[in-house]
Amino acid sequence: MNKEEELDLVKNKILSELKCPLKTAANNLVFGKGNPNAEILFIGEAPGEKEDIQGVPFVGKAGKQLDKLLNKIELTIDDVYIANILKYRPPKNRDPSKEEIISHTPYLIEQIKIIKPKIIATLGNYSTKFVLANFNVKEMKTIEGISELHGKPKKITINGFETIVIPIYHPAAQMYNPKVKEHFENDFKIMAKILGKKFIKDEVNKTLI
Ligand code: URA
Repeated sequence: MNKEEELDLVKNKILSELKCPLKTAANNLVFGKGNPNAEILFIGEAPGEKEDIQGVPFVGKAGKQLDKLLNKIELTIDDVYIANILKYRPPKNRDPSKEEIISHTPYLIEQIKIIKPKIIATLGNYSTKFVLANFNVKEMKTIEGISELHGKPKKITINGFETIVIPIYHPAAQMYNPKVKEHFENDFKIMAKILGKKFIKDEVNKTLI
């Protein structure tokens, strides 16, 4: 079985066995998208309105921001794999509850074990705390927040395979905050370095000179 087929099995398991009120209220399962053989796995928080309608993660504004930065390291959103902590949209995009994280994340762990990425880029507080708490929801409260941890890579071992976790600000958090935008870009530069890729700076708009 190849990775794509293995991921399909996990997807079907969520559809058939997950019991959670979010599943009843949502329009669609938002499982994950991208290249199952990717070197980078991004983990976001939860699907928003657009993602719920289309059943695909990061199709809204946050996804566009992510794609923009990926382009600077000569990748597109289709070269990586993206999944979320929650597989169904919480009403009005509220924060995930502890119970929801407990019931949804076993499937995320299965995705990670299948993809075996070189880098896990955790976007924002929830995924950063979950991964750095060794996937133990009860321990999440002992992990510092994204403002402390962003841009600091950490080696972890999952089931015998080694990977590097890089906490990055959530792309939605940097849209209206120039300081966070700067951090977001710097975190991508750190990721580029680990991957041995160049970070392409914005070209100066020559027509203004
Ligand atoms: N924000 C997330 O964390 N995940 C999505 O899929 C979309 C927006």
